[in-house]
Amino acid sequence: MSFSESDLQKIFHRFVNDDITTIKALPGEIDLNYRVTTASADTYTIKISQPGADLSPIQFEAAVMRHLATKQLPFVTPQPIGEITEGPEGRLIRLQSWVEGRMLNEANPITKEQRQRWGVTLGQLSKALQDFDHPAAPTSYKWNPSETLMSRPLARYMTQEQRELSEVFWDRFEQVALPKLGALRQSINYNDGHAENLLLDSSGNIGGLIDFGDAMRTQTINELAIGCAYAGMHVPDPIGAMREVVGGYHAVFPLEEIELPMLFHLIIGRLLITVATAADNAVKEPENVYLQVSAAPAWALLEKLRSVAPAFAEAMFRSVSLPINPIVFSAPHPVVSLASKSLHAMDLSVGSLELGHYQNYEELPLFSRHVQRLLEDQEADFGIGGYGETRPVYTTDAYETEGNYGPRWRTVHLGLDVWGPVGTTVYAPYSGIVHSLAYDPNPGSYGATLILEHTGEQGKFFTLYGHLSKASLTKWGAGAPVQKGDKIAEFGPEAENGGWPPHLHFQVMRDMLGNEGDFPGVAYPEEAAAWLSLCPNPAPFFPTWSSAEIRSSADQLPLRGLLSRRKAKLGYGLSVSYAQPLHIVRGVRQYLYDTSGRRYLDTVNNVAHVGHEHPAVVAAAQRQMAVLNTNSRYLHDGILTFAEELMATLPPELSVVHFVNSGSEANELALRMCEQWSGTRNMLAVEIGYHGNTGRTIDVSSYKFDGKGGHGAPPQTTIVPMPDTFRGLHQDATTAGTHYANYVRKALLKAETTGRFYGGFICESILSCGGQIVLPEGYLKEVYTAVRQQGGLCISDEVQVGLGRVGKHWWGFELQGVVPDIITIGKPLGNGHPLGAVVCTPEVAARFANGMEYFNTFGGNPVSCAVGRAVLRVVKWEGLREQASATGNYLKKILNQLAREHSIIGDVRGEGLFLGFELVRPSITPAAEQMDPTRGGYHSASLEAAYLKNRMRELGFLMSTDGPDENVIKIKPPMCFSKANADQLIHYLDRVLREDID
Ligand code: PMP
Repeated sequence: MSFSESDLQKIFHRFVNDDITTIKALPGEIDLNYRVTTASADTYTIKISQPGADLSPIQFEAAVMRHLATKQLPFVTPQPIGEITEGPEGRLIRLQSWVEGRMLNEANPITKEQRQRWGVTLGQLSKALQDFDHPAAPTSYKWNPSETLMSRPLARYMTQEQRELSEVFWDRFEQVALPKLGALRQSINYNDGHAENLLLDSSGNIGGLIDFGDAMRTQTINELAIGCAYAGMHVPDPIGAMREVVGGYHAVFPLEEIELPMLFHLIIGRLLITVATAADNAVKEPENVYLQVSAAPAWALLEKLRSVAPAFAEAMFRSVSLPINPIVFSAPHPVVSLASKSLHAMDLSVGSLELGHYQNYEELPLFSRHVQRLLEDQEADFGIGGYGETRPVYTTDAYETEGNYGPRWRTVHLGLDVWGPVGTTVYAPYSGIVHSLAYDPNPGSYGATLILEHTGEQGKFFTLYGHLSKASLTKWGAGAPVQKGDKIAEFGPEAENGGWPPHLHFQVMRDMLGNEGDFPGVAYPEEAAAWLSLCPNPAPFFPTWSSAEIRSSADQLPLRGLLSRRKAKLGYGLSVSYAQPLHIVRGVRQYLYDTSGRRYLDTVNNVAHVGHEHPAVVAAAQRQMAVLNTNSRYLHDGILTFAEELMATLPPELSVVHFVNSGSEANELALRMCEQWSGTRNMLAVEIGYHGNTGRTIDVSSYKFDGKGGHGAPPQTTIVPMPDTFRGLHQDATTAGTHYANYVRKALLKAETTGRFYGGFICESILSCGGQIVLPEGYLKEVYTAVRQQGGLCISDEVQVGLGRVGKHWWGFELQGVVPDIITIGKPLGNGHPLGAVVCTPEVAARFANGMEYFNTFGGNPVSCAVGRAVLRVVKWEGLREQASATGNYLKKILNQLAREHSIIGDVRGEGLFLGFELVRPSITPAAEQMDPTRGGYHSASLEAAYLKNRMRELGFLMSTDGPDENVIKIKPPMCFSKANADQLIHYLDRVLREDID
């Protein structure tokens, strides 16, 4: 039955002297619930029980809420206001205060902090309810995880497949969990901490908790188990999400040792109740959708948990709660006889200089050669190391999986490697039996593997021997006994060991986690603590090798104190990217790696033009560095060949080059040339332009002198408006070029009357700091003509845009159909090596050479020239300009598609792989709070752009923001950026743009 508005109005008046203005029926399993608001703007819940409902549970529920109200809790709960029995059926009607807030499950995304707070909230509940009891507290209830077996008969309503899955879990619960439940502490639990009952306040903190209808006396840990069961839904990695809840809970209400192994079973217990109840209801009450709500994600989660070993879940939960019980390995026989051998601690970590270039490990035969060479160089018989080491080896697309925070790779090595000769004998450290063996010679696999099972004082453990010879296995079968000190195997050759350099991978495991013949040898960084606890340090098995020399993951963690040392010792004006700074230790093509081995797609770095650490560039530098590096006052072929090859990409007018070491130096020199040419330092420059960090270049950089710490334009500089057709002063693309050029003409005209002439005009060919502003058609043509008419020079700053990045052309100015008098080149020319150039016409060069020598100690040195020439050649040989065109056009197309989905993207622009998109809200007006009247009335959208940038970083994508309002996302990756990269970038951008971005 339902209640009419006037019924409810009448009922309400019995409690409160106020009038109801709105009524909304709320979903519920048993009670009828209504949310009402009143004329005096108060909100309440009216709860109407089933006829003849027992009063005592309701009194109990009210007592729980009242008890919590006596505690200092950071969240509020509904409070009972009154209760009456009404109508011929004798329905109990209650009024409660309403708790305001948005349900946690509506947050998108649910953040790590929110999951931790979820656990904290449940822990606070457990703590607050420790001193509470009530005679009417139920002790048995369908939704109690401990009583999951009560739901088992409902399995008959499930499909065959569902039933099979559930029965496996229920069997395990019965055998493993049930016998131990009695020993766990009990308390009154709230017992319903799922994400629809936790309410967020306006700052996203958990500020409210509702629905006390499931409260009961049960095992205290069920409070946490229920939260975990729901936290694991809708995420790629449920155990990772649950662990965050566990960590929060334990921090306020510490778990007990006997509870921890039970948690996983109770989580599953609760999920089974959910799916069993849903199966039952689907038959009995097919129209009640509420009852089906969490069934689908619960099934999906159970399906995922099928392959999760309880010991692994326990290790994960333990890694944020209780300490690990160490295993003591006493007096093992050495696994490899290292006495009197010469040993080398091998560093194969992600940033290892010993591991060196990515070519040394990407292909196994080259890796073999590299390891061999390292051992020879060290005159070592064996190389040892790798326990807990983060390695860059398995970080290609093939090994990528999706975690809760974007793409992830298993990079933390769980075993110890002993690199050495084929045929080296491997001994059994302890007696035991053969657990399992396997043979897989495919490249990258373990090859021949043997696993032994031992029984020590603290129970069973296992030892694994990988990359053995095939013959090693022939004498063994599962279950065969092994004696301590037996020769069990030998190091295999590459053809049999999975293609690796000859070595032994030795690993210790506390639990096989259901594996046979194989076991994961590497772990995801975020799971490393759990895996390393399951796979203890094998150092004791190599007694002649000092354990101090065995690197552990602790060595790889971001060095604590880097930030404070940096702040103390480096220039105070130096910023660091991201609130959580990145500790990057390796670059490979379009990717950067942090110390955990996490791979980031780099869409920011137009310096690593042909790809981070391109082998041809690295080799060119290394080879020349080894032979000669000196200044350019001696004759050398390198500088000339480089100059000629560079000029072959330029119009014939630009035929004289001065090599320098940076973009700033290049522009500094170009500005001096203008002064020398014209006799004046006066310059015209564009708003928000940046041209360098030297005195003269800062003086033409409005980005700096109009920004923080700046003092406005110096007298010799005249700034003209940024020729922005999206939100600037002139937006009609067909006439904007002329309109914007008019500002230059106006300044020049003024000079005619004031006598204050200009030495030149400096401008980028696409405005980078301005926010990837593509110049309107005809702009440079008109400006250049006007400037030259008055005797000035035209500089095109190609530091960001040049060297093929725009795809169609080698140089950005070509997009405008002009030839500058001077171009300045920086960033991409050396692919990271400090190298810049100023290329000008012979006339400019001649005027500049007035007798005063232009000498530059490092400019044009043989190493820099070798590097620059290699970069140029790679651009040509690898067709990177063509790739920039094809990939850039594709990316622009899918960015435009994305813009159609998300109105916050107001404009997509750029050329080749120099792209950007601008965030605006709601339409043409850039979003946010402030209006800046000086720039034609547009707003700042920095908040949304900053969210996007930081969230994308969390998901593994480096992006930068720029533009006067920091609301433009720039995309200017290394030019080897692929179409697959573009697709992945868009996939994640789309995801983040769907989140609660504002
Ligand atoms: N010009 C432009 C357009 C730039 O973006 C930069 C650097 N961001 C420079 C000049 C200065 O180059 P560098 O930092 O190599 O001195």
